[in-house]
Amino acid sequence: TVEVHDVHKWYGTHRVLDGIDLTVRPGEVTVILGPSGSGKSTLLRVINHLEKPEIGYVSVNGELIGVKRQGERLKEISERAILAQRGRIGFVFQNFNLFPHLTVLDNVAIAPVATGRLGRPEARQLAKTLLERVGLGERVGAYPRQLSGGQQQRVAIARALALRPGVILFDEPTSALDPELVGEVLAVIKDLATSGTTLVIVTHEIGFAREIADRVVFIDGGKIIEQGPPSEVLDRPRQERTRDFLSKVL
Ligand code: ATP
Ligand code: MG
Repeated sequence: TVEVHDVHKWYGTHRVLDGIDLTVRPGEVTVILGPSGSGKSTLLRVINHLEKPEIGYVSVNGELIGVKRQGERLKEISERAILAQRGRIGFVFQNFNLFPHLTVLDNVAIAPVATGRLGRPEARQLAKTLLERVGLGERVGAYPRQLSGGQQQRVAIARALALRPGVILFDEPTSALDPELVGEVLAVIKDLATSGTTLVIVTHEIGFAREIADRVVFIDGGKIIEQGPPSEVLDRPRQERTRDFLSKVL
């Protein structure tokens, strides 16, 4: 279970997250929607402590992320401890962020080796299995620049899976892709969703959200405006701002 508890994040006087409470249960797929600048990426970055909230905290399976309690206060934990926690929270970015100088296989195998979880042969075996799962079993020896955007994003998903995370966060995983490549990436994400992986996905693909989300969360101005099953939030939104947003993206 991922719990975001009363998270506030601001830059100077600009409130980017303004009291976010969110619970994601194991096996649930949560889709986050909202206009540009509403704080979606910042929320994902707070969840794995790439950004530190001014107020509030995040916990995953009861464990605080990036901080520990010291009396009444929360104190930062070491960078090393944060990195270990991040290994349990997968993150897939819009722009893939693969290592250009490593093969596809090594891009996936490197994290379990670097974190000391697996030896090199075991990590390579796991990477091979995961690349087959995302349909890239034939391309293990290629370099990222030799792949299409959709293939690169599928490598990035395999890489996130290699650490066997309890939850995977996706930040607009298809928005940098040519339209004809979107489907192959969404199919891989759908496979994860139906196999019970806990997912939090920022996307503007409303049809996809309707298909796979257990819950849709609409954010505007750093606040959750409404949330619920897709049949409610997407088909019968209660809030004017949600209706207004959906009329623009549908
Ligand atoms: P998009 O749909 O365009 O990706 P978003 O909902 O992901 O938008 P965020 O990237 O979370 O929005 O940004 C929310 C707001 O916070 C924006 O106004 C942005 O300019 C601001 N912001 C984000 N990061 C910083 C930063 N490091 N310093 C100052 N302002 C920032
Ligand atoms: Mg964003």
